[in-house]
Amino acid sequence: GTQTAKGAAAPASSLAVGVKTTKKYHKSRLELLFQTWISQAKEQTFIFTDGEDKELRRKAGENMINTNCSATHTRQALCCKMSVEYDKFIESQKKWFCHMDDDNYVILPSLLKLLSSYSHTQDVYLGRPSLDHPIEAAERVKGDGSVSVKFWFATGGAGFCISRGLALKMSPWASLGNFISTAEKIRLPDDCTVGYIIEALLEVSMTHSLLFHSHLENLRRLPSDSVLRQVTLSYGGYENGRNVVSIGGAFSLAEDPSRFKTVHCHLYPQTGWCPAKKHP
Ligand code: UDP
Ligand code: MN
Repeated sequence: GTQTAKGAAAPASSLAVGVKTTKKYHKSRLELLFQTWISQAKEQTFIFTDGEDKELRRKAGENMINTNCSATHTRQALCCKMSVEYDKFIESQKKWFCHMDDDNYVILPSLLKLLSSYSHTQDVYLGRPSLDHPIEAAERVKGDGSVSVKFWFATGGAGFCISRGLALKMSPWASLGNFISTAEKIRLPDDCTVGYIIEALLEVSMTHSLLFHSHLENLRRLPSDSVLRQVTLSYGGYENGRNVVSIGGAFSLAEDPSRFKTVHCHLYPQTGWCPAKKHP
């Protein structure tokens, strides 16, 4: 039935999750996401990549978007993808847009619960501040660069969300390629540019949430018993000392180096490949 009770989670159908990826990570990163959280959010998850891939197309169908952006880690290429993510969201008619990287695990029930405490018609920009202070940049969009502005921005690598109400207001600086020219004017990366448009140009404050996580922080410090209540997780540094959440379960670090499978089996124990619960 229809949920109208106060505090009920937002319906999953109100959400569009964009995952930024690149061809070389389709196998090594995206496969894990499809195996885990995306399997619970197929209709609302859109993959923004830079090259065709029959296998990915088979799994994601229309939800795989080939941006035709260049497959490089340059500001231009990353902003090109963000610009397509934005346009696709506006077109989707969904209430919430959440951006993710391809090394994020999205705990969908937590995300829906968090979004349910806000209204999509209001101006909402939710994420984890990248620094412990706002950044400063010359105002080169409305002004000539002689005045500087301070603004907060949400780390792209931890994921962030924007309400439809706010996204519509961003349009002059974000739609149809304008996002790329805005980023070029201020010479900042994609996630900073989002913060710049929202905080500096629209004068809307970011809502800081520590429930979003990137591998820029020490993920081992997150208490084990709080991991499943977070909104996003990440992993990093397989090479020199891994940075992953501390969570035990049926998979060893060797079997599940990112810990995403372990998290997934705690959240969805009925999943076919999760170890069966032992009967007493
Ligand atoms: N990425 C991309 N193009 C590239 C390299 C990376 O779109 O050429 C994406 C990648 O798939 C991920 C995000 O950018 O979603 C961040 O990349 P990564 O995790 O490798 O770097 P980080 O900035 O987190 O260290
Ligand atoms: Mn990353």
